[in-house]
Amino acid sequence: MEKNLFRKEIAEMRAYIPGKPIEDVKRELGIDDIVKLASNENPLGPSPKAVEAIREMAYNINIYPDGAARSLREDIAGMYEVDADQIFVGNGGEEILKLITGLFINPGDEAIMADPTFSLYESGVVHMGGTAVKLPLKDHKHDFEGFVSRVNDRTKLIFVCNPNNPTGNIMTSDEIEYLAKSIPEHVVLVLDEAYYEYAKRNRNYPESIDILRKRPNTIILRTFSKVAGLAGVRMGYALTSKDIAAEVGKIRGVFSVNLLAQAAGRAAIKDQEHIEKTVDLNYESMDMMERFFEDNNMEYIKSNANFVFANVGMDSKDVFQKLQQRGIIIRPGFLWNMDTWLRVSTGTLEQTQIFVSAMEDILKEK
Ligand SMILES: *Cc1c(COP(=O)(O)O)cnc(C)c1O
Repeated sequence: MEKNLFRKEIAEMRAYIPGKPIEDVKRELGIDDIVKLASNENPLGPSPKAVEAIREMAYNINIYPDGAARSLREDIAGMYEVDADQIFVGNGGEEILKLITGLFINPGDEAIMADPTFSLYESGVVHMGGTAVKLPLKDHKHDFEGFVSRVNDRTKLIFVCNPNNPTGNIMTSDEIEYLAKSIPEHVVLVLDEAYYEYAKRNRNYPESIDILRKRPNTIILRTFSKVAGLAGVRMGYALTSKDIAAEVGKIRGVFSVNLLAQAAGRAAIKDQEHIEKTVDLNYESMDMMERFFEDNNMEYIKSNANFVFANVGMDSKDVFQKLQQRGIIIRPGFLWNMDTWLRVSTGTLEQTQIFVSAMEDILKEK
């Protein structure tokens, strides 16, 4: 292939490795009952109200959606008491991240982030010709003092994944406040809160909209993929300043949030009952997992998301294989260069019990 056919940054990039799809495992093993605890999806399923909204809207799919997603943005604005012009939407949080790097990163610019953290920050920055400045976690947490010391004239963005994926733990409101007041105003602070509804059960979790009010160069990312159970329809949004939201309007996919996703999102916001039920189940399921890790003297990180990162004390690629033979899918730690760790999503209580029992079997084999 012609060597310089592609944008030069592409050569440095690696494709995102998603959680293994259920269909693949079914096909490989010839079994039907798969327990997927690999992508932090909602084990209760989607909000029934969202499903109903999609059903009704299905008859209108010959019509283009409202590209600006006005009604959806107004619903979100009402919920958080911000202006609808401070909100932009995307085809999942994933597109929001691409929009952010596309908006700010010039070749040579820098973006500071933790290591390990959500891999799409780095790929978005590198794609635009920027440099990802990756600072190792300290006691499993973002090293904010390190972040502050690495800010320089080239720094455009700071990514904070809160709770962090894959570790699941939070940065507290005091820590976020320290970071926000220690960095220059022109550096854009990106707070990825994909797991917001789970995390806010922790009293020390920041109310980041207060940070945005004081500091306009802040972007808060949220998604409907996790707690609302809408990962399949792709719907994410960001809260930011009116200035930033207006600039995004120049580059976003005009109809990237489709008609069904908008309808589902609007219904899901109004289904707080489903969200509460999901978060309650999450912490019950997490208790079961924590008990297993404790009983087996395995280190795990206290999580306020819907997954747990644990050190199983052996190569987790092997554990991944053995679990998969039993129809259970998790994420092995080598993806983050932490070979003896694994990330497992909380499931229904039944799914979590299946995971725990399988792990007990695997430990006996060892
Ligand atoms: C899941 C996730 C997202 C966004 O996912 P989408 O499905 O694209 O909305 C963003 N950040 C983190 C840390 C996530 O785990």
